[in-house]
Amino acid sequence: MGGVGAPAETARRWQTVIGLEVHVELATRSKMFCRCSTAFGAPPNTQVCPVCLALPGSLPVPNRRAIELALRAALALRCEIDPDCRWDRKNYHYPDLPKGYQITQYARPLGRGGELTFAGAGGASRTVRIRRLHMEEDTGKSTHEGMPGGATGVDLNRAGVPLIEIVSEPDLRGPEDARLYLQALRLLLLYAGVSDVRMEEGSLRCDANVSLRPAGSSELGALVEIKNMNSFRSVQRALEYEEGRQAAALDAGERIARETRHWDERRGITFPSRSKEEAHDYRYFPEPDLGAVGLAPAFIEDTRRSLPELPADRQARYEALGLPGYDAGVLVADPALAAYFDRMLRAGAAAREGAALLSVELLGRLNAAGIGVDSPECRVHPEQLAALQGLIASGSISGKIAKDVLDEMLATGSDPSVVVQRKGLQQISDQGAIGEAARAAIAANPQSVADYRAGKKQAADFLVGQVMKATRGKANPGLVREAIARELG
Ligand SMILES: [Zn+2]
Repeated sequence: MGGVGAPAETARRWQTVIGLEVHVELATRSKMFCRCSTAFGAPPNTQVCPVCLALPGSLPVPNRRAIELALRAALALRCEIDPDCRWDRKNYHYPDLPKGYQITQYARPLGRGGELTFAGAGGASRTVRIRRLHMEEDTGKSTHEGMPGGATGVDLNRAGVPLIEIVSEPDLRGPEDARLYLQALRLLLLYAGVSDVRMEEGSLRCDANVSLRPAGSSELGALVEIKNMNSFRSVQRALEYEEGRQAAALDAGERIARETRHWDERRGITFPSRSKEEAHDYRYFPEPDLGAVGLAPAFIEDTRRSLPELPADRQARYEALGLPGYDAGVLVADPALAAYFDRMLRAGAAAREGAALLSVELLGRLNAAGIGVDSPECRVHPEQLAALQGLIASGSISGKIAKDVLDEMLATGSDPSVVVQRKGLQQISDQGAIGEAARAAIAANPQSVADYRAGKKQAADFLVGQVMKATRGKANPGLVREAIARELG
């Protein structure tokens, strides 16, 4: 068995060290330094102007909203904020960068020294330190689509779109943790309202630095940078491949080359790339057309106060209400679902039972129909679902009948009490009526009675079932059980 085929043995010998560099497009309507639209999917080169093309005489003007969103992200990640952070020019030549430089932050980034705590592999809590968070503008995009004879076109619609780059310390110890960190980061930024964070549309992009070192060592091995991972799954797969590749090479006594490699999704491998990333001298210098960003302390404080409850706090609040960690996590992972649940709580729903009704019964039905809880097609409002939970809790209807009521609510948009009345589904808790039904079941099933008297206690369950059937599931099952026991004496 080679190194790749012996992961357990390899894991004992080598420790994997991963750091992620994440680019996030900010949810602004216009670009970082001009008024061009940032809308995704427009025809190529229709969202450009002299500023984002850096034509002579044009001057950049920072987008205040972009700076505010970047600040929200930095605060959500508990970064130390530099109110006097600066802009720099990063110089390089590439077809998707017609200016010949990119405006970014180098020496004085917006944020430093943050952290993100999340549930890592196996559910264990992990904290990854954030080295820096800085603002920059996006580049254009090379494309082969619609180009004649294999030519490469350049679409500059993306050039100048506001970005933040979030650089973690090399605190991740495996591919699964790296994926879970990235998913937690995405969720945090979604809650903070910073970005729509869609990996498939490129508004969330991730590069990874990965190296292996002898277990027990604290030095870093040769860094390999992995690019072109376009989904959470491909981040994990690419890192698993790379971990195996490096371990096999080290086991064979080879040296790992410091290089940039591309992930090939189809072939499931990484391969060395010769591209712009190889040219490392970017000749950074202070951006001469822009002054310091200049964040007033009051602006920083207002922004901090305007942050909503973030995922970790929400998770803790739900758990404090009695939800199991996993169930709370399911709700928190989808901001729309969590908002729905909060409205149920405000309407008086019991936390545990309400969460089950939402994430099992309602969500199961909506998923089957391909509808989201926040879609207008979802005709059951949180207050109505809370009312349904109340009807079950008060014993007005059984949990079984509640499923039928929910179906009807989804179809008609009616309140649960209206459905229960209209369809006569009120639970029968009247002792007299239940006693009568129990006697009828006993009279109709002498064999079960004989079995019961002969010691087969489960014969009573059959009789309970007969009563439930006769009342079309409406009888209170606890009372039926009591009545049967009483009549059998
Ligand atoms: Zn422009």
